[in-house]
Amino acid sequence: MHMTDDALLTATLSRAAFLLVFLTVVLSQLHERFLWHWLSALIGSSLGTALMAQFPVDGEPGLALGLATYLLFMISLIGSWSGVRLFYRRRVDPRLLGAIILLPLLIYTVLDLFQVALNYRRFVITLACTLPACLTVFEILRPASERLFSPIVVALAFIAYAVALAGTGVALLLNLTPPTQEAVNYPSFAVDRVASILVYFGYIAMAGERANRALRQQAETDQLTGLANRHGAQRALNRLEAARTTGAEGVRTSVLLADVDHFKRINDTYGHEVGDSVIVAVAARLRGAVRDGDVAVRWGGEEFLVLLPATDATAAQVIAERLRDAVIHTPVHADGHDIPVTLSIGIAEATSEGETLSAAIVSADRALYRAKRQGRDRVCLDTTQSDEITISSAS
Ligand code: GH3
Ligand code: MG
Ligand code: MG
Repeated sequence: MHMTDDALLTATLSRAAFLLVFLTVVLSQLHERFLWHWLSALIGSSLGTALMAQFPVDGEPGLALGLATYLLFMISLIGSWSGVRLFYRRRVDPRLLGAIILLPLLIYTVLDLFQVALNYRRFVITLACTLPACLTVFEILRPASERLFSPIVVALAFIAYAVALAGTGVALLLNLTPPTQEAVNYPSFAVDRVASILVYFGYIAMAGERANRALRQQAETDQLTGLANRHGAQRALNRLEAARTTGAEGVRTSVLLADVDHFKRINDTYGHEVGDSVIVAVAARLRGAVRDGDVAVRWGGEEFLVLLPATDATAAQVIAERLRDAVIHTPVHADGHDIPVTLSIGIAEATSEGETLSAAIVSADRALYRAKRQGRDRVCLDTTQSDEITISSAS
């Protein structure tokens, strides 16, 4: 008699259905290696479930059937783990994966040879399966450069797997359960029904969340300089405006607008490509002059905006001077030329008086215009409270 009960059949069929859906996800993002690892994980567990249906209810499966089933489930768990590592752009060592799969297999075979009790042999296998489940949880929960929500779903599933497997392992070790197939597998099956749904949908959600994040990043980034573009600036403006109203970042926020002087001449003299190199060099110096929480934006062709949260006008002047210095100090080297570059900078501060950041940008633009009018290569300040003043100049 074989274990072909409804539960097992349903599990196998629903796995096949999920597999079909997942396959379409993989085909739509062929270049993502982590999806291939997860696909192998899903195939491994589907085949493993199908093989398990062949286990006799009241006895031991043959060594070959037992080990083949173990191999498939282990490939599945390891594929999940390595896929999650690749997803987070962490290195995967195939030798380590091989060792984790094969070592318990070897131990099991030796124990089988010496006719060690079935419970203990099963314990080794169960313990081996618990390891990649725990590792997958670890990979998801350890700090990563980007915080995503969907991996939590997968982590929950693998916590459930790890607990079920560890529980089964302890029961086997303490001889609490008879080594019949049903007793050993029942808790795992129950967990598997729920957890496999979390894993399948979780993987699809992870791939989707990552792709969405990448697309948004691309839409909000200027291709030439890597700074935020106007779309990115808008999101940062909304965020900072909200933080100002709640007082989280301090109500005082300054904005700085910098424009390369006589940029047209650079283009005309050296060509458009050298002009591009100058824009890239100015962007790099801008990045170096601001702090971590500041938002640097390529606002237009050769015009840059910097949002300076929790910064008053006086502190903004220091940053503007630092930037002006960084640009004047070293000419931009491009296409064999050393090109002297200067910036005109306008600054405005949005105070608690209800001035919005957008209004502050208009004020900074006014100050920038004044800096240009006064002869360029200088920093001008515009405040809502007082008349605009020139705070530094090329003299
Ligand atoms: P001012 O000192 O008054 O700012 O003079 P300017 O010549 O810098 O000012 P203007 O805004 O008139 O010229 C900017 C030029 O920048 C015009 C445009 O052809 C050029 N430009 C805009 N975007 C790019 C770009 O991505 N690459 C290059 N190379 N040039 C660009
Ligand atoms: Mg200019
Ligand atoms: Mg300009």
